[in-house]
Amino acid sequence: MNCPKCKATMEAVVFEDVTVDRCTSCKGIWFDANEQKILKSRKGADAIDSGDTAMGKRMDKITDIRCPRCNVPMIRMVEVDEQPMDYEACTKCFGIFLDAGEFRHLKDGSMSDYLRGLFGAPPTPSTSPRGGNSA
Ligand SMILES: [Zn+2]
Ligand SMILES: [Zn+2]
Repeated sequence: MNCPKCKATMEAVVFEDVTVDRCTSCKGIWFDANEQKILKSRKGADAIDSGDTAMGKRMDKITDIRCPRCNVPMIRMVEVDEQPMDYEACTKCFGIFLDAGEFRHLKDGSMSDYLRGLFGAPPTPSTSPRGGNSA
């Protein structure tokens, strides 16, 4: 996979059970759907965002990018409920791309302890199991 912004190679970065892709050049990070939400709630996950914020700010100006997975144009999103920040998202696979420093920025202002408490409830199955008579 190549960086949607600077076209350099991306490397897999593993944090616990989650693997993201980080650009070897501009250090932007690709998160598959929900990975960013999962990692935002994990303590120490900001270590994956090892890039330089100044570089990230430069790359942030590049907005006309395509999803590295689906090759469709990505749209500009704005995070409004926490720290104001914008990033690019794919409307097809729901992956997002954060420039260097943006994930740290998100985590700084995130309610990580609060969010950690929210996770853990399994989704309710939409189909009810056909129960036989258990004698
Ligand atoms: Zn890059
Ligand atoms: Zn996509």
